Amino acid sequence: MLTTPQAIAETKMLIGADFVAGTEDAETVLAPKTGAEILHLPEASSAQIDAAVTAADKAFATWSRTTPAERAGYLLRLAQAIEDDAESFAALEALNCGKPYPAVLRDEIPAVVDVLRFFAGACRTLHGSAAGEYIAGHTSMIRRDPIGVIGSIAPWNYPLMMAAWKIGPALAAGNTVVIKPSEQTPLTTLKLAKVAAGILPEGVLNVVVGRGGTVGNTLINHPKVAMVSLTGDIATGRKVLAAAAGTVKRTHLELGGKAPVIVFDDADLEAVVEGVRTFGYYNAGQDCTAACRIYVGDKLYEKLVADLSSAVSTIAYANEDDDQNEMGPLISKRQRDRVSSFVQRASELNHIEITTGGKPREGNGFFYQPTVVAGALQTDEIVQREVFGPVVSVTRFSDPDDAVAWANDSDYGLASSVWTRDVSRAMNVASRLQYGCTWVNCHFMLTNEMPHGGLKHSGYGKDMSQYALEDYTVVRHVMVKFA
Ligand code: NAD
Repeated sequence: MLTTPQAIAETKMLIGADFVAGTEDAETVLAPKTGAEILHLPEASSAQIDAAVTAADKAFATWSRTTPAERAGYLLRLAQAIEDDAESFAALEALNCGKPYPAVLRDEIPAVVDVLRFFAGACRTLHGSAAGEYIAGHTSMIRRDPIGVIGSIAPWNYPLMMAAWKIGPALAAGNTVVIKPSEQTPLTTLKLAKVAAGILPEGVLNVVVGRGGTVGNTLINHPKVAMVSLTGDIATGRKVLAAAAGTVKRTHLELGGKAPVIVFDDADLEAVVEGVRTFGYYNAGQDCTAACRIYVGDKLYEKLVADLSSAVSTIAYANEDDDQNEMGPLISKRQRDRVSSFVQRASELNHIEITTGGKPREGNGFFYQPTVVAGALQTDEIVQREVFGPVVSVTRFSDPDDAVAWANDSDYGLASSVWTRDVSRAMNVASRLQYGCTWVNCHFMLTNEMPHGGLKHSGYGKDMSQYALEDYTVVRHVMVKFA
């Protein structure tokens, strides 16, 4: 496993065929597990960002004319190269994000490989509606064509996976890409650049690094970027929309969540506790679909709080050795302080009880105790706002209609789940929830064949699935006069 900065081989950006260092101020990249510096990474200048977009624009002329089969071949080779180097990708991600190494190797790298393989296949089956004569003597047909240069902006919670979610459909559809990883977690995307440069034609994929307000801002405002794809904060989404208004671009926004988990009195309590223990705290809760907002029926409330608190108190999270940890630290001190202040404010309310956790871990690294906040009310901040940490709130309901109304009473609309043994009730509630996804008797089950994306302030546009491929294409009408 990589543990030292000396082990980081790839630190250069990819612009066209060249590996270059940024020429602007350096960002310090930290190891969240210890708080130690990994390296200083100079960020891209405006001229370098322009060179990356220009390289992508030039490559678009030929890449967009390749056949789906050819693009599939490239993506399959890229997927294979990542799979062949899975351990070093996983080690780098574990170092940069503080994630437990076994979890990255087991869960994230296979998902990265599979999403590239999925889009390699999917682009060969993309179809439009039937052609026909809608005006006599004229045949109309529908084409789905690539859009151009995609400016992709990725977050820090799953750096390589988010890169793959963006690069996969964009390249499969015939677009070229300039991607900017989060300034906090650029390392696996830089390694991906190195691997991709040996496989993809020059300029098809470009990687620039730096902060959002500088490098990101220049990229999203670049006139030759035809579409911006962002996974990030709502505030960043607004900036992308403002930039898009100025330069008339397409946008694809994945902007956070606050997933409700509705537990009816007839639910399998053991399964609920196991599900929330796993998927409320996976990736230290830094997940936009995290099972973080529980609504539980009156009869089950006391037992759920007791059993969940007891189960969550056993989550192994603060050992020096990754292999013993189920949960890593938060990404930064800032993020840990933010989580801590949410819990602190909640704990000051008389009706709230912190039944387990509730504090940062003393010592090095950005660890925070896995926490359960019981007795939360719908109007509480802890129920309304995205915490993005290992914190789950529990709210009691008597009337099932209240549970559905409260679940929908949120700015977010990404993911949700319903737990009941009654199929009719599950179907009824699922049909009323305003979320991009509703799971029944499970949570956080993602598969590359199915779409992931939200509504309301969670954004729009889909990742994964055929729908993502469509999002990275434009529908065109071609009419031929034959009479
Ligand atoms: P963030 O918005 O701060 O940063 C995301 C990316 O945007 C980073 O690369 C950052 O440098 C860039 N950025 C920031 N300001 C910018 C600007 N002005 N112009 C251009 N780029 C800019 O978000 P984050 O803190 O990295 O990620 C956490 C957020 O992402 C959470 O809200 C989380 O819920 C969300 N998220 C959503 C999904 C989803 O699928 N919906 C998935 C993962 C994370």
